Amino acid sequence: MSEETRQLLQISEANPHIRRLVRIGSMVVGGSRPVIIAGPCAVEPAYVEQAMSCAGAGIDALRACLFKPRTHPDSFQGLGAAALPLLAEVRQRTGLPLISEVLAVEDAEALGESVDGFQVGARSMHNVRLLEALGELGRPVLLKRGLAATIDEWIAASEYIRRRGNDEVVLCERGIRTFEPRTRNTLDLNAVLIARELTDLPVIVDPSHAAGNRDWVPALARAALAVGADGLLVEAHPAPALAWTDSAQAIDVAELTELVIATVVAAAGR
Ligand code: PEP
Ligand code: MN
Repeated sequence: MSEETRQLLQISEANPHIRRLVRIGSMVVGGSRPVIIAGPCAVEPAYVEQAMSCAGAGIDALRACLFKPRTHPDSFQGLGAAALPLLAEVRQRTGLPLISEVLAVEDAEALGESVDGFQVGARSMHNVRLLEALGELGRPVLLKRGLAATIDEWIAASEYIRRRGNDEVVLCERGIRTFEPRTRNTLDLNAVLIARELTDLPVIVDPSHAAGNRDWVPALARAALAVGADGLLVEAHPAPALAWTDSAQAIDVAELTELVIATVVAAAGR
């Protein structure tokens, strides 16, 4: 961590009125350079090679989801705790922070120290007991906006974590359900501006679950950077067509590299 970032962290901790810097392992969210968190939707058996390949693009942190909230119970539900050794190997080989979705407090306990941050998915944003438990655990939380949550409901959900003494929260806009069926969700970039006005928390954008189609992900990611997002959460896979989950929206490593460059360019313009 640079001396400048260290000083910014100290200032942010001492002053509640400026953008809070949230540290997730070696990654700092909310600073002058937007971060990029990427990787396959779910951890698959070939995760180590996939993660190494994504890491090579120059990202700041990896998606590392073992527990998946799938719409149908017959769908792949994630490898679960049996895949913890894959996370350990990836952490050791890439040195990158890992962020993993939790559906229940038991998932967070199973992940323990194997990951650097917990993701609360759109379907779980209203689970106040989970939010409170994550507040007690005190580890960084990436809180997605619910499928049909207003901006105020999303920020209120973040308060369930913060009131238990954990301010290490990053908000993530991932599109909301509207009358428009041509995209998976409708990306609400207004929410980035408004959430950043209403809270001191950093706000990142997930263009993958908004678009549902890899062709639209790069442009939406750039739009998010243009409105001042503090980072991106992107589904990426070395062989997108072979991804076990959310294959249609996964970008490849060349496209991911372009997005990493876009974050550097965005930082220069801020
Ligand atoms: C995910 O990030 O894979 C995910 C399930 O996203 P969301 O909760 O936004 O649907
Ligand atoms: Mn997904």
